[in-house]
Amino acid sequence: ATKRISKGELSVSLPKLGKDEIGDLGEAIKVLANDLEILKNERNEFLASISHELRTPLTYIKGYADIARREDTIKEDKDKYLEIIHEESVKLSKLIKELFNLAKMDENSFSIEKENVHLLPFFQAIIEKVAPALKENEMSLVLECAENLYAPIDPVRFEQVIINLLENARKYSEPNTNITVSVFESEGKIHMKVQDEGKGIPTEDLPRIFERFYRVDKSRTRSLGGSGLGLSIVKQLVEAHGGTIEVISSPNVGTIFDIII
Ligand code: ADP
Repeated sequence: ATKRISKGELSVSLPKLGKDEIGDLGEAIKVLANDLEILKNERNEFLASISHELRTPLTYIKGYADIARREDTIKEDKDKYLEIIHEESVKLSKLIKELFNLAKMDENSFSIEKENVHLLPFFQAIIEKVAPALKENEMSLVLECAENLYAPIDPVRFEQVIINLLENARKYSEPNTNITVSVFESEGKIHMKVQDEGKGIPTEDLPRIFERFYRVDKSRTRSLGGSGLGLSIVKQLVEAHGGTIEVISSPNVGTIFDIII
């Protein structure tokens, strides 16, 4: 039988079905309807999170711009407010860039250009980039990587992965602690581990930290400049390389992220 579903274009051919098969089909439709409902809720939650995240820096920008414009605001305060406006604009543009990257990843319109990357110089170059920020936090970084290791990765995308993990290790640690990056081969796979001695992640939060916009401590991480998108981007990029990422963490002891390629 041919059943017209909606005006014009869409029609489907259904084979003749027995009673059991109709029952199965009914079940399948129920499951599908349930999945669609879940997807719809997820999309709404995602949109609500995005508008919240965009609104927060904008509220600061507008609020401080209003006070800075007032005639009775003294120059010293004006400079302070301009500084906040600048910081919030930087956060906003970072967030928009991350959202754009995520959208591109979702529609698979980004390409992974794998090369056989020599890992020691690759990690040394990344560490040079993050060194000034670590120095400012009085933190040190140790790299353990053999000379002869190579991995088939997109160096540009993977640099983003490692920098996101190092940024987190720095943000969620106290001064005078260490970050250790160890790169090694085990059972034919390359491991890239980023270990810190920071505040750690409570066990109940661990399953959710790779979700978009998920943050363990919302107010604290916002003041540190976090958007809650970093780890979801990391996971998506690692999986796009056919790899996996694991996390082990103990509160007040530290966290280890292990990428396996
Ligand atoms: P954010 O931009 O908030 O850092 P992420 O997606 O990178 O977002 O991380 C999600 C949350 O996981 C963070 O808000 C933080 O609570 C927690 N987290 C991530 N990395 C670490 C770490 N190395 N140590 C402690 N907590 C971490």
